[in-house]
Amino acid sequence: MTNLFDQIKAEGHEQLVVCSDASSGLQALIAIHNTSLGPALGGCRMWPYASFNEALSDVLRLSRAMTYKAAVSDLPLGGGKSVIWGDPRKNKSRALLDAFAKQIDSLNGRYIVAEDVGISLGDIEVIRESTPHVSGFSLEKGGSGDPSPATAYGVFCGMKACLEEVYGNASFTGKRVAIQGMGKVGSALAKLLHEAGASLYVSDMDPERVAHAIRLYGADPIHGHEVYRAECDIFAPCALGGIINSRSIKSFACRIIAGAANNQLKEMSVVDELSSRDILYAPDYVLNAGGLINIAEELSGYDQPRAYEKIAKIYDRMKMVFALSKTESISTAKAAESLAERRLKKGKHV
Ligand code: NAD
Repeated sequence: MTNLFDQIKAEGHEQLVVCSDASSGLQALIAIHNTSLGPALGGCRMWPYASFNEALSDVLRLSRAMTYKAAVSDLPLGGGKSVIWGDPRKNKSRALLDAFAKQIDSLNGRYIVAEDVGISLGDIEVIRESTPHVSGFSLEKGGSGDPSPATAYGVFCGMKACLEEVYGNASFTGKRVAIQGMGKVGSALAKLLHEAGASLYVSDMDPERVAHAIRLYGADPIHGHEVYRAECDIFAPCALGGIINSRSIKSFACRIIAGAANNQLKEMSVVDELSSRDILYAPDYVLNAGGLINIAEELSGYDQPRAYEKIAKIYDRMKMVFALSKTESISTAKAAESLAERRLKKGKHV
């Protein structure tokens, strides 16, 4: 087994907190990847991991991704994430959330928690009773509420930059967009695209969600992996990570891949094949940062119009990514990484 210190050092993490509370059964990890730009903000995921190592890899990978997302989005925030090891349907209790909140509080604001898979807005509000280091709470309580509409809006703005890059204008009229996943983000994105004049193909494991999109937006349904083969202008992954991989890449019949799903690239090597097939890839963490930008606004007192103005800048950021990709002859994925790393190097006082 790899030495734990080596594992943490490999990706440059600052701190790993191993949390345990015998009476509530809490077993959790809090990973703080980088705080050079500000406190580490990132969601808490509750998941029945098969092993400690699986939970550890997840929290390390996710917290690092948050550093890059915050940095490339020009936010005064660092990257962190937490995971609670357990089944949210069976193991979540008031006592467990209280014990977890105490652990967060003990970090004195170095880590700010938000919701993620298995942790609801209601859970966040319970945690907030024991620590102020919480974000993403309800609109009624002065928070920013569900981040999904903000994420969808950011994706929509970033897609405009993609259209300009490929077609020379940002019009959605007559453009065909295939959306994989009609959940919270996918459905909000479908609405924006429909209103802007795009025609939609939609896929989801839940037939009700597909039926909803057919009813509301006249979308065409696509089944399972057929979505990768859809002949379209934009393929928008809004469900799963790892979907751009050595197998799926051969199927793509789109000009642009731009969607909300986190960690879309299964491995970095696939980006070269995308370029050789003339498919423009919008790096996921640049495009899907709307939710984070929205949540970050809570820290200075939430104001929705101001938040949405900042989210719209995803368009400009995507343009920067494309410009750097061309001037340095690197992939868009590498260009996004490079922009984030430059910002991290400069630090917060610039
Ligand atoms: P969600 O759970 O509301 O929706 C996901 C949808 O994908 C569900 O309807 C599910 O049935 C569907 N799905 C799952 N597997 C599928 C498959 N194989 N084919 C087709 N559909 C499938 O999640 P969400 O909040 O809409 O988030 C979507 C993606 O965007 C996730 O990867 C998430 O990590 C990422 N993301 C979300 C936000 C946010 O603000 N919610 C922010 C950044 C990134």
